[in-house]
Amino acid sequence: MKGAVERLIELLPEAEIDALLVTNLVNIRYLTGYDGTNGLALIGPQTRAFATDFRYVEQAAEQVDPSFARARASLDLLEAVRDLIPGGEVMLGFDDVHMPVRQHAQLRELLPDRVVLVPSGGLVERIRAVKDAEEVRRIRIAAQLADASFERIIRDGLVGRTEREVAIALEYDMRERGARRPSFDSIVATGAHGALPHAQPRDVPIRAGELVVVDWGAELDGYCSDCTRTVAAGEPGEDARTVYELVLSAQLAGLEDIRAGRGGREVDAVARTVIEAGGHGEHFGHGLGHGVGLAVHEAPRLSQRSEDTLVPGNVVTVEPGVYVPGRFGVRIEDLVLVTEDGSEVVNGLSKRLLTTD
Ligand code: ZN
Ligand code: ZN
Repeated sequence: MKGAVERLIELLPEAEIDALLVTNLVNIRYLTGYDGTNGLALIGPQTRAFATDFRYVEQAAEQVDPSFARARASLDLLEAVRDLIPGGEVMLGFDDVHMPVRQHAQLRELLPDRVVLVPSGGLVERIRAVKDAEEVRRIRIAAQLADASFERIIRDGLVGRTEREVAIALEYDMRERGARRPSFDSIVATGAHGALPHAQPRDVPIRAGELVVVDWGAELDGYCSDCTRTVAAGEPGEDARTVYELVLSAQLAGLEDIRAGRGGREVDAVARTVIEAGGHGEHFGHGLGHGVGLAVHEAPRLSQRSEDTLVPGNVVTVEPGVYVPGRFGVRIEDLVLVTEDGSEVVNGLSKRLLTTD
């Protein structure tokens, strides 16, 4: 596969811009290799420039791809754009998804009138959505590491431990196995708290008979994993089992539908229909899944409003959930690679309802 910068340059004519100003740090990391906290890049057919301030000059010398000209700028990096911009009339794309209004006003003031600012957010994200073999390899290793940590934590049992204790133990174990950090704040939510899709772990002990939603991921070599399992702390009761099986069949139907050419909206609908048929449509209030890579939430999206179409190299989650207010929640999430001829689940944990003490 062509390099990321080459693929980006191919998109510029269609976006009707001559060069793209990249200010989002994740996009900069993706395109240049630099992972410091202040930097910008300017990319066009004739331009490849990177600027940072004095604190990061050494780091940039080590990390930034040698095809980029490097400029040292003042702390206010935007001033560097004026010197890096090519001659003549320039349609300059900027990231309107991430750029603050104030920065945009400052840029307009700094640049001569021959430069037209064109909102071009999402271009780099489109390229990031298609992973090459090395990126897939890193995501796979992050997922395997996260799997191992989960199995380790569950072996110690859940009943009597607090949500926060389990979350901390999980995160500690991932770091011990080499993760740079958790790819997001882990969710451990027991009983009725599991009905909050983005619950924060509390100092509340897990009781026998409760369902526990665990959503966690590892970041390793820059790439993230993301997985959810719902575990029974002792016998959960008939209702909870029925809902678990419903969510699992929706998840399997969604996974089955993942392949190149399918729309994000279509795949969402396939899983959603299963949950609606089970009478829990109003208890599944979020999208079916999202892309995962350098960021834990990125393109493409699987949701009722998605306009994305899956292509080989996408790595997405499939994570339907049913949240019964005041009672319990169930979510099951896997990470899936879209391949040339279908799809492949990247993580490896079983999805049978796991019952632990
Ligand atoms: Zn998740
Ligand atoms: Zn997710």
